[in-house]
Amino acid sequence: MSEFALRAQGLKKTYKAAGNAPAKQALKGIDLNVPRGSIFGLLGPNGAGKSTFINILAGMVMKTEGTASVWGFDIDENPRQSRASIGIVPQELSIDPFFTPGEIMEFQAGMYGVPKSERRTLDILKAVGLDDKINAYARTLSGGMRRRLLVAKALVHNPPVLILDEPTAGVDIELRRQLWDYVLELNAQGVTIVLTTHYLEEAEELCDTIAIIDQGGLVACDSTQNLLSQIDNKTLLIRPSASLTAAPDLGGIACQLREDGRLAVQYNPGDMHAGAVIGAVQGAGIEIVDLDTQGAELETVFMKLTRQK
Ligand code: ADP
Ligand code: MG
Repeated sequence: MSEFALRAQGLKKTYKAAGNAPAKQALKGIDLNVPRGSIFGLLGPNGAGKSTFINILAGMVMKTEGTASVWGFDIDENPRQSRASIGIVPQELSIDPFFTPGEIMEFQAGMYGVPKSERRTLDILKAVGLDDKINAYARTLSGGMRRRLLVAKALVHNPPVLILDEPTAGVDIELRRQLWDYVLELNAQGVTIVLTTHYLEEAEELCDTIAIIDQGGLVACDSTQNLLSQIDNKTLLIRPSASLTAAPDLGGIACQLREDGRLAVQYNPGDMHAGAVIGAVQGAGIEIVDLDTQGAELETVFMKLTRQK
């Protein structure tokens, strides 16, 4: 049995040209493994290809090339099992307004072939705090309630993998908390969680592993801790008195010569003081005219990795 909840190798997707819209390569060959039991964040700016990636895994979008599997089931060879292993909460709040949450849950269970005796409509609605709305028309539900109904709907067939696509878009802070508490509880029960977001803070707070995709390509995949330790890096921007042709050797301290003539020296404030960095630069025979620091901003790594190439 595969130890991965999700697995993709060389996954590519090109959306065909339609009308005036030209063909669009949304995924350029993604290799990615999501370990079982994790809370995995798929992070990237709008248009990066996040929804395309997870919709392929969920059997909702056809891939162009590559292979993928869910819970060890290849999406081509075992489409039924792979679909049964995944529950997806889509980005759009698409809910038929003329049905009640109770009906929507029963209909979904029917689609997944869950026998009547095994259906847990009330339990699941209770878990997402919608049991009192079981007979209300969906059109009377608020945005946050609709989001929770979509989570409930994704869980009817008890999938081992739950995917949430931009789950907090349009959800207020209190509901966000509730949603996360529930997601964490599901994870504690053994459900692998994959969430896509373009909010770094959200991924940082919840996820043990984060993959960053940009323009259809994977730019990073690491434990949240490792990614954050990169954020701990500070950059000292130094303007030398004489222009340099190359970055000096600072004995193991990472240093680059920027186009504007400044030296960008990276250091980890936990390991080294700025004074030592300055000393090393001066020790390399460089006279410093001016300096500036670039702080340890949360967005830094993300920006660095998703910069236009
Ligand atoms: P994300 O979820 O990261 O915002 P998407 O996967 O939705 O990104 O989109 C990736 C790229 O593919 C975007 O350029 C988007 O415009 C394009 N795209 C997404 N869905 C379609 C579609 N059905 N037809 C054509 N292009 C699409
Ligand atoms: Mg999306």
